[in-house]
Amino acid sequence: MSSKHIFFTGLLFIIVQIAVAQDSVKVKKEVDRVWDNYELYHEASIKNRFIKHSDVIQLIQKNINSGLFSSEEIGRSIKGRSINHLTYGRGRTKVLLWSQMHGDESTATMALFDLFNFMSGNDEFDPLRRIIRDNLELHFVPMLNPDGAQEWKRRNDLEIDINRDARLLVTPEGRALMEIAKKIQPEIAFNLHDQSTLYAAGRTDKSATISFLAPAYNYPKDMNESRKRATQLILTMNDALQTKVPGNIAKYDDAFDPRCFGDTFQAMGFSTILIESGGFKGDPEKQYIRKLNFYALLTALESIAKKSYASQSLAKYDSIPENSRSLYDLVVRNVSINKEGISFRTNLGINLSQIKGPNYASMSYNGRIEELGDMELNYGHNEIEASQLSLVPGKVKLLLKSEWDKLTQEEEFQLVKEGYLYVKWTDTKSPTGPMSARLLNLTNAETGAIKAAGIGQQAQFILAKEGKPEFAVINGFVLDLNTEMKQVPNVFGY
Ligand SMILES: [Zn+2]
Repeated sequence: MSSKHIFFTGLLFIIVQIAVAQDSVKVKKEVDRVWDNYELYHEASIKNRFIKHSDVIQLIQKNINSGLFSSEEIGRSIKGRSINHLTYGRGRTKVLLWSQMHGDESTATMALFDLFNFMSGNDEFDPLRRIIRDNLELHFVPMLNPDGAQEWKRRNDLEIDINRDARLLVTPEGRALMEIAKKIQPEIAFNLHDQSTLYAAGRTDKSATISFLAPAYNYPKDMNESRKRATQLILTMNDALQTKVPGNIAKYDDAFDPRCFGDTFQAMGFSTILIESGGFKGDPEKQYIRKLNFYALLTALESIAKKSYASQSLAKYDSIPENSRSLYDLVVRNVSINKEGISFRTNLGINLSQIKGPNYASMSYNGRIEELGDMELNYGHNEIEASQLSLVPGKVKLLLKSEWDKLTQEEEFQLVKEGYLYVKWTDTKSPTGPMSARLLNLTNAETGAIKAAGIGQQAQFILAKEGKPEFAVINGFVLDLNTEMKQVPNVFGY
């Protein structure tokens, strides 16, 4: 064998080795490694979704201090709260992102501050940061509706929905957004919202945790370059999110509405993407969905910086299922009910409506029966298969107020196991409204007046097997009576 031959054989061997290594170790994408390290960037001062303007102001100051962000006030809300615009990066492609134009939709606001922490970091992900910083000029307006956020309500303080104000621009918040968009002329725009937690991704049992839309810019819902780009970016984010929450991604209804900012901006030539954060089982405070938002946005920014989204085929958009309003918080299947002497088996759909707590900084829940009947095409975040079970109204335990005050959680759980769901004080009237750290409700009603299964009724009942309580549904939450005691978020005084 000649030395030349040995040299080429050796070279070939090395090339093959490199190829094998790349294939078998399958290099993890950079954004996926960021996902693995999310806790480093998670803004720990934001502990729940009830973030307020004062929190936002402090965090913006922190980011200005990092030296990488600049900030300006671009308007004031009706109540005089500042609307702030942050800028990051020095690239050619301009991207505008705004969040919380609906005051009670804060998931993306939380994620934006995680994203800012990432952007101002200094670690192994510097190459990714540099790509974003050098190619993009990012413009952020976190919490466009601070008055709504303060009272945890959708609309602004004039009771106008800012996202129906893109034409009339009556609201100062809407005007601020329109002015900054006209000034920047972004190539890409992100409109960040929350949707109902009761949307499913198509007719499935999977919640629509994230829903996307590339809004239409006219009534025939035509496709143009701007909308095409938005769609390709959605497909890029969808590919990434499917690896984290397979089947939980959907698309939002694309009917054209010229009152909305997304539709209007699309018509102005800014490729606009709507991201709606929905529900995910076991995440009522939306902290996991916040992480998904962070990941989706970082994926999109990297893709915009590298223009890699351009290779996405639009035909793939058809494979994303549509939002379907078919979920319930709890579905009880095939339960036996006895009503006015008639016994029948049916299904119950129960939803938890939200009751704002003090200072709009917490939430109580009110579980009610909203469906009774055929629910084959519906699913629950939670489900009980009850074909061996009968629905029984909870019993009322008569106690003195002093006895109630002394009752331990363990004693309450024991009473629930015996079929009690209510306590009636015999010596005085009891309070009404949500109560925490209890399992039993309080009632002032006559003891015979408790009914358990009807549309609009509070979801308080026992599921029993041959007379023995197996489950308690307490204010829409399920207690398995054969396992350890569990807390429920709140009960009620009636
Ligand atoms: Zn919204």
